[in-house]
This record gives sequence, C-alpha cells and structure tokens, in this order.
Amino acid sequence: MTPARKTRSRRTDSTLHEKLTALASNLWWSWQPEVTNIFREIDPVRWSDLNHNPVKLLQEYPPELLDERATELALHARVNLAYRRWREYMDADDTWSDMHAGVLRPRPVAYFSAEFGLHESLPIYSGGLGVLAGDHLKSASDLGVPLVGVGLFYSEGYFSQRVGPDGWQSEEYTQIERAQLPIRAAVDANGKPVRVTVETRHGAVHAQVWELHVGRVRLYLLDTFIPENSDEDRHLTARLYGGDQRTRIRQEIILGIGGARALRALGINPGVIHLNEGHSAFAALEFIRIKMEDEGLSFEEAMHEVARSGVFTTHTPVPAGHDRFTEDMIEEHIGPLGDQLGLDRKALMGLGRVDPQNPEETFCMTVLAFKLTRHANGVSNLHGIVSRRMWRNLWPWLSEDEVPIGHITNGVHVPTWLAGQMRVLYDRVLPPRWYLRSGEPEVWAGFEDVSPIELWEVHQSLKYRLIVYARRRLLRQLQRGNPSDADIRAAREALDPEKLLIGFARRFAPYKRADLILADLDVLDSLVNHPQQPVQLIFAGKAHPADEPGKRILQRVYQVTQDPRFKGKVVFLEDYDINLARHLVQGVDVWLNNPRRPMEASGTSGEKVILNGGLNLSILDGWWAEAYDGLNGFAFGGGKRHRDEAVQDRRDAEDLLRVLREEVIPAYYDRDQDDLPQQWIRRMKRAVRTLGWRFNADRMVMDYVQHAYLPAAGAGSCHVPRRP
Ligand SMILES: *Cc1c(COP(=O)(O)O)cnc(C)c1O
Repeated sequence: MTPARKTRSRRTDSTLHEKLTALASNLWWSWQPEVTNIFREIDPVRWSDLNHNPVKLLQEYPPELLDERATELALHARVNLAYRRWREYMDADDTWSDMHAGVLRPRPVAYFSAEFGLHESLPIYSGGLGVLAGDHLKSASDLGVPLVGVGLFYSEGYFSQRVGPDGWQSEEYTQIERAQLPIRAAVDANGKPVRVTVETRHGAVHAQVWELHVGRVRLYLLDTFIPENSDEDRHLTARLYGGDQRTRIRQEIILGIGGARALRALGINPGVIHLNEGHSAFAALEFIRIKMEDEGLSFEEAMHEVARSGVFTTHTPVPAGHDRFTEDMIEEHIGPLGDQLGLDRKALMGLGRVDPQNPEETFCMTVLAFKLTRHANGVSNLHGIVSRRMWRNLWPWLSEDEVPIGHITNGVHVPTWLAGQMRVLYDRVLPPRWYLRSGEPEVWAGFEDVSPIELWEVHQSLKYRLIVYARRRLLRQLQRGNPSDADIRAAREALDPEKLLIGFARRFAPYKRADLILADLDVLDSLVNHPQQPVQLIFAGKAHPADEPGKRILQRVYQVTQDPRFKGKVVFLEDYDINLARHLVQGVDVWLNNPRRPMEASGTSGEKVILNGGLNLSILDGWWAEAYDGLNGFAFGGGKRHRDEAVQDRRDAEDLLRVLREEVIPAYYDRDQDDLPQQWIRRMKRAVRTLGWRFNADRMVMDYVQHAYLPAAGAGSCHVPRRP
C-alpha cells in the first residue's frame, strides 16, 4: 500500500482536533516551521504563555472553538497538508539510511544519554550535552537511522533561573505535568506498561518508562515516581544534576541498568550501544549480563562481544568533570550485578580504574566506558588530541597518537536552529530539497548567489525580532521588583538594531569566562559608548546550583549591566533555555566564545549562529579551531596557552579587545553608499558556505553511522577516524 493511500483513509475519518492532536504527539512538528505556525496562530498569546506546548494548548482549547477558529484562519487545508506530510515522513522507505545503512535495520542503535534537549516545553536538559543529544535524535530521524534513545524523565527538570537585585542567582523548580506532555507509558508485547527494577545491597529501585516520539525515533525515559518506591527513591529522578554523589549513582544505575532492562522488556535488542558521555556506562555491564544469561558465555567472552558493539563519546576535557564513585558506593549499587557477572569487589572496582590494582583510585565512569566499548571518540579534532593525551595510561603499550580515541565533531540540527525567514532564502538559492542532503558541501555552494541586500535585510529583521523579544523579557524581569520609570524606559528602548550586537550565552561554568570582555570597565565604556561605532552586549546563561564560582561570575556580569554607563546597552536575560537560545542565535551580529583553551570540547552554539548569518568571534578551541579559515569569522588568542591561568586570561582578554577594535568593529561599520557592510556580508556568506555543511548534525550522524555504528554492528572493523 502506498503512503498516500494509507493517509487518505485516515484523513476522512479524523477531525481537525484529532489531526492536530496527532501532530502534537510527535516532536516532528517542532522542526517544521509551517506546523509550528499553525499552533501559534490558533492562539498566539496562549502559545507563548504555555511555553510552546501544543499538547497543553489543545487540552485548553475546546474542540468547538477550535473548529471556529480554524475556519476563521482558513486552517483546515494547512492542517491536512501538515498531517499528510507527517504521515509521508513517517512511512518513507527511501531515506539516506535505507540506502547506506540497511545493515542496522534488524537491530537498532541504542543511544543512552543523561539529558536530551529537544524543545523548551520538555525541560529535561541543562545545556550543550543535552541539546547535542536532542539534535542527534532529530538528525537520526531525518536520515532514517534505526535508533532509539534512552534517558531519564526529570519531573522537575533542571531549574528556572532568577537573578536578584544583587545579581545572585536563585533556582526555582516546578513540577512538570506528565499528562501535559507528548509522552505515553511504554508498553510491552502484551500491552502492559513496562516497569524495571534495579537491585542494590539495600533494596531495589523501580522505574516506569515513558515513550516519546521524535519523528521516526523513539525516546524512552525512565521515571522513579511510582508507589513501589520508597519516598526518597520516588524523587530520585526529579531533578537533573541535583543531589549528591549518592543521588548521582542511583540515577546512573536507573539510566544504565534500568535503561538496558527497559529495552529488553520492550523487545528491543540493540545491535549497537552508544553511550553519550560516561553517565550511562553501567548499561554495558547489564548488556554483558544479558549476553551471559542468553548465550551461556563467560564474563570475558560476553564483555568482548558487548565491547565490539559499543560506541562511547567522551565530552569532558577536564579530569574533574568525570563522574567518580567510592568503593562503598559501587559495592552498594553495583555489587548485586557484580555477583551475577561473577565479579568480586576488586574485579568490579578494577573496571573503573586506569590501574585496576591501585586501591587509591576511585571508580570512574569514563574509564568504565572506555573499557567496555571498542569505538571511542571525542567531539572535535582538538578534543580528540586532548583525550588521547588524557587517557593514554589506559593503553600504556601504545604511543599517544595510537590511542584508540578518534573524533567526530559535533554538529547542530539545521531545521531546528535555522530561522524560518532564513530558510526561505536557502530554499531560493540551494538545490530543491537541500535539507535532505545538508551534509554535502556542493549543496551549500549556491549560497554565494544570495543577493547581499536580501541577506542583510533578512538578518536585520531577525535582529530586530531578537531585540523586541529581549526588551519584553527585560521588562518582565524588572516588573518582579519595583522599577523606576527610568528603568522601565531603559528596558523599553534597550538595544539598537543599527548598532553592532554581540551575544554571549552559555552555561556559566568558570572555564567559559563570561566576564572576560568585562576585564577593564573603562575600556568597555569606550567601546559601548563610542560616538560613531558603539558595541552592545547581550548575556544569558545559568550557573549550576552548586557552582559558587560560576555564580560569582554571573553576579559580576549582572552588576555591570546595572552600571549607569551600560544600562540598556549591556543586558542580561534570565533563564537561558532552548527558546531563548533560538532567538539569540538567529538575531545577533556576532557570537562571542571565549573558553579557556582547550576546555571547550566542541561547543555548538556558534554553529547555530552560522546558519543564520551571524559571525563567530572565538578563541581557537573546540569546533572553531578546525572551522576558522581567516575569512569566515574572527578568531583571537592565537591558539596559545599559559600554565598560569591568570596570565592566560589577561592575554586572551587583551587579544579579544585587539581583534574587536582592529577587525570586528571596523568591518561592521564599513558601509557603502547604500549603507550595506559589503565586507561583512561577504564573511556571512563565506561562513554559511564553508561551515554549514560540516557543522550540522546530519553530517555528524552520517559520520557516526559510517565510522562507528556500521563497524560496531559488524559491517567492517575500522575505528573512528583520527583526522578529518
Ligand atoms: C546550543 C546550546 C548550548 C550549547 O552551547 P555551547 O556553550 O556552545 O556548547 C547550551 N544551551 C542551550 C540552551 C543551547 O541551545
């Protein structure tokens, strides 16, 4: 039966409300601007109040009223079209993966991650790692790669950020209503909701399993909020990265061991196991146990087989960033599984130690992941090098450059991050259905043909949209206190679309140095209040609740925004999330990135900016170290490091100011007779053309398929490549 016939029969018997509900039940809508627009137009104010959650919107909107409203807006035909496109997408059998990775079809890839950043209405992510995992699922879906995700359901999510008048961050947690999300209970072959149990030395922890549809991909989320659990354990998965080490290890046994058991209960037998960061590495132990039980293998034999199908992506270039547990904690939580594997305490601990015999070493999840997978990679070329150095002691018989850790550079999901207006430009100059081939350089060559004035006008309109949005958020932030009339006026008039606008938004982890550009306030004053060529700054980002140094940096940034010299010109927007990120990356002129090299494993926000015509001004670290070609953005710091952090910070700050003054500002304000910055526009075009195809998630997932998934599934045997 053809997809078209199938959809026709469905169409005749579903009402508008049913079709919209069906569309809302699969996150596919979130990367389709036309479908998003339908939900928005139904009730724009409510749409924004509900944080763009269509499930809630439809629950709140009575069906009769919906029909009326649809008639008024002539929505019926658009909904029918959207619904038909969705069904065709779901039923397609000519995807990239059908052509290139058919081997994976019988047994899918299981992709484990502690966080997934898919949409603002589903706050189960904290930052880059989660957004990367979300983009990975979306591209796997678009490419047709057979893949299921496994994660945790955090019923209070990460946190909402509030910044007090003194600049100190506080955290607010709200309960997410499960019934108002596009999730359903995952059921087994008999239609029974799946429950999993993980034993510890002091009783068992239980979890239910939710299923979320991300296009063609299914994501399973484990949730311990069920009556079988003790009070404490019921709240075990409430918060992402909350609690202490004990919470952490208990979350990780649910994610890893519980996740593997959930797949088994669902009848899913993965051919490849992909661990996105070390949090989920216990999964590999459970897959070994399953293999021993099913096939009567010894631990060594089963470990060998599981490792062959295992892929591990490490993300953390700092030793302190890796999860470590004491022997007591491992014994309590992994001991029972160790018994089943036939491992005593020492053998078990040895799996998490670089030197298995060293009793001083704590149990490291990254080490476990390296030992239990044959295919390992960092997330940029530079991060691959750093990781090989960092972990060379795991392979003492190899030289550093033989260490089997390759790299696959992170990319972003184009339809998620590309502004609708910019997409119209792409559609005009790139080949038809370009988005199905966005990992190919030829496809992007046509961007050179965009007319400069059109590109500039689209960019200006996105920038204006960002500024209007920022003013609205600034006003809302102010209205929580007792603002003066002058403050309200400043917020209403904050930021000027005709002036250079630099954005900086990311987690306020100290190594990201949010305050680097604020090193000297007199210099900042001279830049921001320059009579002809002024600079404006927009900041956003959360510090982890337990990160005091990060909070102090945030406080300093916030206090600068309150300085009379900078009010309305340097601003801080609270509560950075995917929604705010989308506005920022689509509207800024310049995206500033100044981590302490080489601590930024990849970074991805700058890649989102590129797609929308913004330019990067960045330290040569992570993805930018391999992306910058001298003309597709701006770089500073010269790739140099210094042993003394203070010295490195000072040098980097000086170089940042030099590049700003000598390159960025002059290029931006260099206008022709039509007031167009021709030189700047050439850079914008070059950035899209040279970087768009490389730093997108389709290319990334295709690399994972070819260099990791296919070999792991037994088709070929090469390792993840070392060099681009
Ligand atoms: C893209 C994104 C990130 C990652 O940003 P980097 O600092 O560049 O890694 C973090 N948070 C959100 C909300 C994002 O959208």
